[in-house]
Amino acid sequence: MPRLVMKFGGTSVADLDRIRNAATKVKREVDAGYEVAVVVSAMSGETNKLVGHVRDASASEGANHPGFYDAREYDAIVSSGEQVTSGLMALTLQEMGVPARSWQGWQVPVLTSDAHSTARILDIDTTNLDQKFDEGLHAVIAGFQGISEEGRITTLGRGGSDTTAVAFAAALGAERCDIYTDVDGVYTTDPRIEKGARKLDRISFEEMLELASLGAKVLQTRSVELAMQRKVKLMVRSSFSDDPGTLVCDEEEIVEKNVVSGIAAEKEQAKVTLLKVADKPGVAASIFGPLADNGVNVDMIIQNISEEGHTDMTFSCASDQVERAKSVLEGARDEIEYTEMIFDPGVAKVSIVGIGMRSHSGVAKTMFSALAADGVNIKVITTSEIKVSVLIDCKYMELAVQSLHAAFGLETA
Ligand code: ASP
Ligand code: MG
Repeated sequence: MPRLVMKFGGTSVADLDRIRNAATKVKREVDAGYEVAVVVSAMSGETNKLVGHVRDASASEGANHPGFYDAREYDAIVSSGEQVTSGLMALTLQEMGVPARSWQGWQVPVLTSDAHSTARILDIDTTNLDQKFDEGLHAVIAGFQGISEEGRITTLGRGGSDTTAVAFAAALGAERCDIYTDVDGVYTTDPRIEKGARKLDRISFEEMLELASLGAKVLQTRSVELAMQRKVKLMVRSSFSDDPGTLVCDEEEIVEKNVVSGIAAEKEQAKVTLLKVADKPGVAASIFGPLADNGVNVDMIIQNISEEGHTDMTFSCASDQVERAKSVLEGARDEIEYTEMIFDPGVAKVSIVGIGMRSHSGVAKTMFSALAADGVNIKVITTSEIKVSVLIDCKYMELAVQSLHAAFGLETA
């Protein structure tokens, strides 16, 4: 029998009515002849509440920093939200006449690394599941969780049930992995910023990966990486309608390749520049080494020659990491030998993404002309094969997204 993985996010299982609504969708696929593995998140808000309990229970100094408390107990606590919804979903399906049972990560088992709170899936042994499928029993799997080699419960990082779903789709050889959520697909850009944003029928893994890591928070980035590796077809669709959503698939399955498929925008970015750094081997390492060691997540990096023997180094990071970056770089000043450190904390990153860019010229030109026409000053530019990103003043972010959406004809494409 063909198999299908159906994943329901937190808003899709937020209460019993919604669980019933989701179960109706599962029943429809079961009736259509699929063996279904349902992967569920915790009810919306539940994981945040549990994380709050962890913090409160370890409320002495530093408790707001992950790593302060015992991450194994953090995982034991925050994984419990999914246990509840998996049981409720199985019960609801049974009520509808669909034979089903729940599986916790450890029962399957889903073997993961021991990096508690950000564990990676190493292996899914489907022997038990296969046997139950043969007996006619559909599976409801608690997302977001697994078990380490030492036998402790692990979790996969926030948003991790997407990754659970993709990993099961790969392990079970499912025809598709449907990700049910509260939006009806992947859009050309954030519809709250641009009213003309359009739902895409298809998007390639690579484009989705760029958009996911650029802040279009539909899917956990890691789940897209895994889907790309294992060639799992993903369908992002709404729990609250019957519309087909957006298929995330291999590039080969997209006939008409968009030059630009989507525009991503992210506020709360900061730009940091070190002036007149000594231009010598090892200097980049002396800057970015300590930043990495102190957990500053650096995004764009630009280096250019200033005067003979000196170079300017610019990088961007999230605004909330700027203070940390500042103190790290002040501490390393003697070694780096810069003359001045300049901060620009109020910047936004706007990116255009499209696989068609590889074979089209003039894409950057269209982007820069559109921004220029609106008087938007570009502070930093970076490019990859399928992406052009710029840093601009935060207050122009919406305007930039709207002009670019129009410049690339995305409403009508
Ligand atoms: N419940 C977890 C979270 O909120 C995992 C998920 O929903 O994907 O992060
Ligand atoms: Mg999610």
